[in-house]
Amino acid sequence: MIASSKLNKFVQEIQAFLKPEQVLNTDIDRYLYETDATSLFKNQAALILIPRTSQEVARIITIINKYPELNFVARGAGTGLSGGAIGDANSIIISIAKLSKLIAFDAANQMALIETGLVNETLSQLVKQTGLHFSPDPSSQAACTIGGNIAENAGGIHCYKHGVSADQILGLEVVLPSGEIIHLGQINQQACEDFDLGQEIKQIHSAKRSAIDFTRLFVGSEGTFGIATKALVRLQKIPESFLTMQVAFASAIEAAELVSAIIKAGFKPTALEMIDKGALEAVSKTFDLGIPGESNAVLLIELDGDNDEILLEAKAIKQLIKTQFKPLLYKETQDPTERQFLWKVRKGTVAAFGQIAPFWYLYDAVVPRSKIPEATAKIEAIALKYNLKLASVLHAADGNLHPNFLYDPEKDPGVVERIHKASHEIMHLCIELGGVLSGEHGIGVEKRDYMPFLFSDADMETMLKVRRVFDPKMISNPNKIFPIRVCKEC
Ligand SMILES: Cc1cc2nc3c(=O)[nH]c(=O)nc-3n(C[C@H](O)[C@H](O)[C@H](O)COP(=O)(O)OP(=O)(O)OC[C@H]3O[C@@H](n4cnc5c(N)ncnc54)[C@H](O)[C@@H]3O)c2cc1C
Repeated sequence: MIASSKLNKFVQEIQAFLKPEQVLNTDIDRYLYETDATSLFKNQAALILIPRTSQEVARIITIINKYPELNFVARGAGTGLSGGAIGDANSIIISIAKLSKLIAFDAANQMALIETGLVNETLSQLVKQTGLHFSPDPSSQAACTIGGNIAENAGGIHCYKHGVSADQILGLEVVLPSGEIIHLGQINQQACEDFDLGQEIKQIHSAKRSAIDFTRLFVGSEGTFGIATKALVRLQKIPESFLTMQVAFASAIEAAELVSAIIKAGFKPTALEMIDKGALEAVSKTFDLGIPGESNAVLLIELDGDNDEILLEAKAIKQLIKTQFKPLLYKETQDPTERQFLWKVRKGTVAAFGQIAPFWYLYDAVVPRSKIPEATAKIEAIALKYNLKLASVLHAADGNLHPNFLYDPEKDPGVVERIHKASHEIMHLCIELGGVLSGEHGIGVEKRDYMPFLFSDADMETMLKVRRVFDPKMISNPNKIFPIRVCKEC
């Protein structure tokens, strides 16, 4: 741990160019930044800094390099769910939250140059009047930053059709762990300095590019390659029309089978979200949703695009449901208010969990879509074995499962340990079924010890070699992604 005299010296160097309100150095500050949205993982950093420009980020990191004990951790909004934005006693948390400008916006070429602390939903609001939006829509989109989306390759409810964050990032300005500022993909220094809001982004007219492009390599690197300070993002047209269907079933297996049938038949819904009986129980305590009491699963199917096309597709999906399934309820709507109501069963779940227990642990797992019925049944059995209250939501089109454990450690002192054991079994199960470690929340500290479930030592050593190219001293978000056994210098 860094000696307090050395840390004080570091603070003095930082105070030469940061204002007092940009340096958070009290115990309360450290407490406020000790977790992300997963309260199961906690650790306090030495200091929290809030730079306002890329140059300030670069200067901070250059000074950190003079102190061999220190490392740094980028932080966006702290909504991450794998413990990625947490530091340790030698960490300087570098919050990007105040780098939040929309720098330039080019409606003709459907792109925007932003600072990465910009909140996901704010970008869409700022460009809405031109009929465009930033399509990745994590459920946390009202709070999470685009920098956090880039670091975690965030997905969302409508990503099955429109793509995840990696598909929308065209270029990046990055402050490397050396303190150097570099540009990846379709932006360069001039692009970052010259643009004004509303000006066409002249250098970049094509989505094609032939030179080596490391943008996609950076996306999903969880803050271990440096800090993204600016991004050139692709914007997509807001779909002309939506059609939402809500289908309730007596069994989760039947709902999962409908998911497979829809994809197998070649339909391309924009969202296919499933809610299990635990989540349904929670949300029904809060809202009267008109869903039959004997339902054990609800599927939301949403189509978007050209109105005539989606009406045709909806008719065909309805026919599929009618001929091959026995739902307890079928509703469809194109009315915006009714659409919001149908979505409440999914979007109201997290808030409703508070009706059941004061804490909730959201797990992120993935299986091949065809294995959803088996995975769902086995996860229920694991929850039963460990006497845990389970409530699951699924981005079913991607096979992305989110089992949530609702718990109260005061009333049930051993519950956290049981949750860890159950999570361990769920991860083994998903890998056995052909899945992967994480769909969208990343590895962070949460899943780093699971990396060997999927990757050999040689696989991980290759990842580390790439990481060392960006970060030879391993000072950018250390202790994340790799098991300590594999990354001794992490
Ligand atoms: C209720 C709820 C619902 C959620 N729903 C979804 C969902 O549907 N889909 C989904 O994908 N995720 C979801 N998440 C998880 C989370 O919101 C996303 O991972 C999001 O992208 C994190 O953004 P953030 O700004 O909060 O990042 P943080 O939590 O602050 O950081 C996350 C990671 O990114 C790194 N990082 C942050 N900014 C930068 C930067 N500028 N440069 C380099 N590294 C950086 C951090 O070091 C850390 O490792 C949800 C979370 C909650 C609480």
